[in-house]
Amino acid sequence: MLLKLNTAIKFVKGVGENRAQKYVKLGIFTVGDLLRFYPIRFEDWSAVVPVSSVNDGEVACVRGVVASPPREYIKRPGLKIYYVEISDSRDIFEASFFNQSYVMDQFKVGEEYYFLGKMTILSRGQYGSNALRYLNSPQYIRTDKLPSGLTPVYRQTAGLSSKIIQSAVKNAFDSLDDIEEPLPEEIVRKYSFISKKNALYCMHFPKDDSQLERAKKRLAYEELFLLQIGLIRLKAKNLKSTSYVFNVDYTPEFCSRLPFELTGAQKRAISECVKDMKSASPMNRLLQGDVGSGKTAVAAALIYNAVKNGCQAALMAPTEVLAVQHYNTMSKFFFGQGINIRLLTGSVKAKEKRLIKEELKNGECDLVIGTHAVIQKDVVCRNVGLVITDEQHRFGVNQRGELSSLGKNPHTLVMSATPIPRTLSFIIFGDLDLSVLDEMPAGRQRVETYLVSSDKRERAYSYVKKHLVAGRQGYLVCPLVENKEDDASLEMKSATERFDELSAGFFRGFRLGLLYGKMNPAEKKRVMAAFAAGEIDLLISTTVIEVGVDVPNAVIMVIENAERFGLSQLHQLRGRVGRGQNKSTCILISDNQNPDTIERLRIMTKTSDGFKIADEDLRLRGPGDFFGSRQHGLPDIKTANLLADTALVAKSNADAVNLLSLDPELKDDKYDPLKAAVNRMFSHGLVVN
Ligand code: ADP
Ligand code: MG
Repeated sequence: MLLKLNTAIKFVKGVGENRAQKYVKLGIFTVGDLLRFYPIRFEDWSAVVPVSSVNDGEVACVRGVVASPPREYIKRPGLKIYYVEISDSRDIFEASFFNQSYVMDQFKVGEEYYFLGKMTILSRGQYGSNALRYLNSPQYIRTDKLPSGLTPVYRQTAGLSSKIIQSAVKNAFDSLDDIEEPLPEEIVRKYSFISKKNALYCMHFPKDDSQLERAKKRLAYEELFLLQIGLIRLKAKNLKSTSYVFNVDYTPEFCSRLPFELTGAQKRAISECVKDMKSASPMNRLLQGDVGSGKTAVAAALIYNAVKNGCQAALMAPTEVLAVQHYNTMSKFFFGQGINIRLLTGSVKAKEKRLIKEELKNGECDLVIGTHAVIQKDVVCRNVGLVITDEQHRFGVNQRGELSSLGKNPHTLVMSATPIPRTLSFIIFGDLDLSVLDEMPAGRQRVETYLVSSDKRERAYSYVKKHLVAGRQGYLVCPLVENKEDDASLEMKSATERFDELSAGFFRGFRLGLLYGKMNPAEKKRVMAAFAAGEIDLLISTTVIEVGVDVPNAVIMVIENAERFGLSQLHQLRGRVGRGQNKSTCILISDNQNPDTIERLRIMTKTSDGFKIADEDLRLRGPGDFFGSRQHGLPDIKTANLLADTALVAKSNADAVNLLSLDPELKDDKYDPLKAAVNRMFSHGLVVN
């Protein structure tokens, strides 16, 4: 049987029902999923070096002849080590294998092998070894079986080793039907792209690096091109008409009541929005502004405009904590102005919920603030003319469409605190108009940031303690411990361990809180609320601290293993402090010696401008972080992650704009495969027809 991309994985030779279950764990259901499960890296067995040139601890590929039959060494019951003595014409080394008795039959004297692994150089006799050098559990291939080209290495899971996956991929290609080409012929010709099938093949089995690069480029281009066709189409679809054309600009009236002067950027953003809301088609805009840039005041100005122009407004937040915070802020902004504000979240009692819903229906309630989930659920409003969503990056592109379902084509504004480099934002938010708050309110203090190594940890902790004693609060952020095969992570303490250690040790007598992703939501909420209420002095957490949470009394943050975080993520974390009158500090702890990493972390100590940081992140790490972190809520972008090529982004954008200007609805039959591919990519919400 010929396989198609949507054929179930179990039909691939050698997979079957049982293994298919295991593939599910890797998110692989179909042949297409398997072919897009790209290797995490490649091994180059052709880069053989002499044994004598390999240093202790280095990973290398060496070649040698089996010099004597394998030996078994029983270290203790249950732990057998097998040694194979190998000679590479000048030197002798040993390959060692733990509890793998089959090596006794594998290696025959005189056979020649390649070995790939980490070299250890020991003193003679240690662990029963004869050799000074040995390779610990290396991979090996008999020289006559060496594959041509690079060898793919896959992310593995229980029961699915990289080798098994590799052979499934190979088998899949062996019986693969032709793959439809989604890219228009003129584009393929323009860039001399290789065929899609060939590109997929080369992602797994490239002859060399340059072939791999060509394949990546071809697939990344395709993803970006489809994404942009989809987004531009989405934008076009949004150009319907609204029933809420605002006639009067009430911004000056709103400003006269504000306790502060708006920044230039805030004024500009508000006027851009008001201009949209005065027009016949609904506003569909993204407000991007760094943490603390004052997005809430912009939202308030727009809400004021909406209410004074005679309609209702809704403000949605991703979590209850943030919704309550907004409720309090708005109540202050609109105090005494006859604007009826209601809070609608999961914890509101059923009876009150009914009442609020009634008020929304009959128009008595002017502004409803709540969590996205609750407001979406069976709320009917009389005349919602403005829907604002905070921290948009948590919501997907499909949900963007749903937001407006509360009213008849209301104006929508989404607010995001994630600075996305300008070169990328027009892609990631290609379906939205963009306003940017690139200016901070006056008098904002920057968070002093230091980078120190772990031998200064005690000092950093003492500094934290000083603040706690003074009645301030702090955060201690630990990275997730995920990758156990990585040596460095083994030495790394998880949030839980640090919590245990510090509550019994250095911070004994202080009120410590613990927050991590796997905690149940009620417990998380309780801890966060206790911290906000000042009942916890030091919060030890992973990165789950709520984006947008405002605890002005928290003035110090220590980030452990800072090298583990992306710059933009560090910036987001750091934004949790420096929110009050007191000087705030952030201490990054890292022992990483890699010059690139140090350069990256140094940027944090030099600037507090989120956009600058995002640009640096883009320059140093490529767009992967922005596409890969799923913050944007767009369809999954796979290949573009692998590419640090912003030029490609610009090219694909120009091509998409150009194509849609010639055939806005892709009516020509030759674009059917393209349309189908775009629809698959945006599998809900958007239909290009
Ligand atoms: P974010 O953009 O992160 O949501 P907020 O809207 O929470 O930021 O604003 C952060 C703080 O700055 C709030 O306390 C807010 O009252 C204050 N603020 C906002 N705009 C101004 C301004 N123009 N001048 C002074 N303070 C401001
Ligand atoms: Mg905010």
